[in-house]
Amino acid sequence: MITKFFSNMQLSSWTAKSEENRITRKHLGSFAKECDKIGHMVRVYDTTLRDGNQAVGVNFSVEDKVKIARRLADFGVDYIEAGWPNPTNSSELEVFTRLRKERLQSKIVAFGMTRKTDLSCQKDENLNALRTSDSDCIAIVGKAWLFHVERVLETTADQNLRMISDSIAYLKDYGYDVIFDAEHFFDGFKDNREFAMRTVSTAAQAGAQEMVLCDTRGRSMPNEVYEITAFVEKKIDKPLGIHAHNDRGLATANSLFAVMGGVEQVQGTINGIGERCGNADLVEVISNLELNLGVETGLDLSKLTRLSDYVYEIGNLTRNYYQPFVGKHAFAHKAGIHGHAVSKFPETYEHADPSLFGNTRSIVVSSQTGLANIMSKAKEFGLHLERYPAKAAEIMLRIKELEAAGYYLENADATLNLVYARSFGERLEYFDLIGWRAQVSGDPDGATCDSTVKVKVDGEPFIVAAEGNGPVNAFDIALKKALENQYPELAMVKLVGYRVREVDAEKGTAATVRVFIEFEADGRRWSTVGVSTNILKASEEALLDGYVYFLYKKSSRR
Ligand SMILES: [Zn+2]
Repeated sequence: MITKFFSNMQLSSWTAKSEENRITRKHLGSFAKECDKIGHMVRVYDTTLRDGNQAVGVNFSVEDKVKIARRLADFGVDYIEAGWPNPTNSSELEVFTRLRKERLQSKIVAFGMTRKTDLSCQKDENLNALRTSDSDCIAIVGKAWLFHVERVLETTADQNLRMISDSIAYLKDYGYDVIFDAEHFFDGFKDNREFAMRTVSTAAQAGAQEMVLCDTRGRSMPNEVYEITAFVEKKIDKPLGIHAHNDRGLATANSLFAVMGGVEQVQGTINGIGERCGNADLVEVISNLELNLGVETGLDLSKLTRLSDYVYEIGNLTRNYYQPFVGKHAFAHKAGIHGHAVSKFPETYEHADPSLFGNTRSIVVSSQTGLANIMSKAKEFGLHLERYPAKAAEIMLRIKELEAAGYYLENADATLNLVYARSFGERLEYFDLIGWRAQVSGDPDGATCDSTVKVKVDGEPFIVAAEGNGPVNAFDIALKKALENQYPELAMVKLVGYRVREVDAEKGTAATVRVFIEFEADGRRWSTVGVSTNILKASEEALLDGYVYFLYKKSSRR
């Protein structure tokens, strides 16, 4: 009989308690007694490079995969599923050759399917590609849902079981450790429990070291996952794992409930990228395992924010600023009363210390802001406003004026920092822009652009021309070249984001536009904003703020 999970559980005893943001098992109270499996170590199995690479819009190159694998190994995940070696894609095999040379601490896993219905293992090209992958371990996926076996593979239950056992035995014979992924396990279990159980028991008997229960369609509820996992755990005497998809937004919850049910391995991807709505987000899963369940993963959570950023960066994906734990806004406080409370007791509006995840708290300042947030923000900038209430009021007034003119300072911390610095009397006169022009020439093959910039630095004029792929780009290149005469450190500054928003769209092309620019140097990022009815003027303003901010921080070392 499957035990009913919610029957006599006191949920409040394990959700509400915390101690220094990192609860330990003793805080799990009655839940720990109910579920004594939780104390075990959980192995983290990352499939960013395989399932993550199946996300629409993601296409990692061999080089990208190697770079991400290095980061994952540095973070300390137990397994890195690096791809699906197959004869039609030589780059997949190259990944394994490259990773072998890297000698990473994590185990490198090759992923593939059981043999085809009508072929022996020896003749199955996909299995032979796995056999020559030279990985540390192989994950073999087999069907655990009879409906899929009969209707899609058009074969019988017994033949499917033979495909599972033959494939595992074949790879074991070549000395590989094998993990068995039971595809559609939860759907299969609900449809035909006996057959689903036979797939995992067959795999275990054939020598697979771990059976991974997959919620392939992301259709299960956490309580089902818990109950089914607990049932399987009692019947199979080898370790289990969970592979959850996020089609109903439950992948993280399902992964955690599987751990409660007794699995020892969790699979997922960084940022949850993956097929359709993605996989379980390891950022969420790992953080919750540690903080809410007291499970030791052996991983350094403080590397999570940078790891998450890195995967977005390499995958050329838009960051989710609202992502739990690692998002830029995950610990941002906008309402005045929140900012006030957080400055006294952060735990009033923060579930944990942001530094645990390598993230930082930020106090958001906008026209809706109260004086408390203006003060807290000053502290963040390394300025002290406590004794200058008149100055705080002056800054608040300036912010309201700017926002009324179309500026949006919530997402432009560097511009905001300059507003503060100017009101503190900082001179910020690193250079004078005398003027600039840009010329776009179009022909049937496209357009080219060049720009000439005239600046004065320390009284000395510089005139520099440059080409770019657009007027803003050409202006930026020329400006930077001119300034580098005096400030060579500007060479490290990269422009990493450029966005334009219309402020009053109903005026058509005469509308005011707001330009956001994001910069990066030395792993640090900052954003600026410019506003004008002319897009080039708005861009100029945001660009200048970005460079002035960099020079200001450099000179003040704040
Ligand atoms: Zn998957």
